[in-house]
Amino acid sequence: MIRVAERMRRLGTETAFEVLGRARALEAQGKKIIHLEIGEPDFDTPVNIKQAAKKALDDGYTHYGPAAGLPEARAAIARHVAASRGIEVSPDQVVITPGAKPIMFFAVLACVDEGDEVIYPNPGFPIYESAVDFVGGKAIALPLREEKEFGFDIADLKRLITPRTRMIILNSPHNPTGGILTESAVRAIADLALENDLLVLSDEIYGRIMYDGASNFSIASLRGMQERTIILDGFSKTFAMTGWRLGYGVMPEELARHVTRLQINSTSCTSSFSQIAAVEALTGPQRDVELMVEEFKRRRDLIVDGLNGIPGIRCRKPLGAFYVFPNITGTGKSSRALADQLLNEAGVACLSGTAFGRFGEGYLRFSYANSIPNIEKALERIARVLKHQSVSIG
Ligand code: PMP
Repeated sequence: MIRVAERMRRLGTETAFEVLGRARALEAQGKKIIHLEIGEPDFDTPVNIKQAAKKALDDGYTHYGPAAGLPEARAAIARHVAASRGIEVSPDQVVITPGAKPIMFFAVLACVDEGDEVIYPNPGFPIYESAVDFVGGKAIALPLREEKEFGFDIADLKRLITPRTRMIILNSPHNPTGGILTESAVRAIADLALENDLLVLSDEIYGRIMYDGASNFSIASLRGMQERTIILDGFSKTFAMTGWRLGYGVMPEELARHVTRLQINSTSCTSSFSQIAAVEALTGPQRDVELMVEEFKRRRDLIVDGLNGIPGIRCRKPLGAFYVFPNITGTGKSSRALADQLLNEAGVACLSGTAFGRFGEGYLRFSYANSIPNIEKALERIARVLKHQSVSIG
């Protein structure tokens, strides 16, 4: 038996990958599973982006590049973030990473000392809590409330701030609820960050996947906030590029140098030809992104209406991302039990709300990054299982 380091006990995980594994095992037995568990667009990467990568391979972008990213890619990202957030951004503030996820770990490793407190949304992306625990910080859960469209009271946040609070993590649009932070909430959070000298990690990876006229209001755009904010963003969701591993952080230049050193110590750099494709993604035609968001909106409306038609389930209509987070307490089952039952009996893979923290009990998370016929079939199967009718899943 290998004795692993003590700190490994403090490292969490992302259940989506575990559920995907179980779903694949059932498929190997011939079962027909509908995948509503994993958080990635089902669309293919737009053709112009793939062509740019193919050309980059032919042009020799097959070597190591600078640790913080290729200059042309950092410049394109700086221009994009400046224009979309209404702020000034220099390429020296940009660190490009293999996926956006490393920015979470790097930000926490670089800024959080043992015993420092970090406030994070719960339910929320599980890696926030995991990263903070791992470095010996204290992860402080900020409960999100369904009746507030999965937002929170500023008074609740205020109460959690102590002299040890170092950082607040924000995620809007939000995984797993699809909720968004309103401009007035963002302004109030910024005031608290300024008063209490806090850093903000602002996870804006779903910032372009929004509906019904909602738009992303970045905390970095408020006076005095860019100096204390790390914007996390990337290409995985907006451009359907999860497998390319391409993301970035935008932060004060001084911090970018430390984060670059973390990159040198871990990944060295991000794939060079991926970064050339990133330039095309940001500067090329954006029509594919618009079409994808329009299609997501149709699916959101379908799944929200469908879930609300099933006795025991109640579902809000979220304004962003591609997830719904229905309340399932009316079924009388725990989240975990219902998620397991839906996988095994309905052949519908989804996640228990508790995969996103303890305040996720009573909810399930469905990703609607799947086709309309598949979502319709999933809804039908869920309704049948909850009515104790059998479902043939092969
Ligand atoms: N933030 C959130 C909220 C996410 O849901 C995800 C991906 N599931 C990421 C960041 C990381 O994305 P990437 O694949 O680019 O590492």
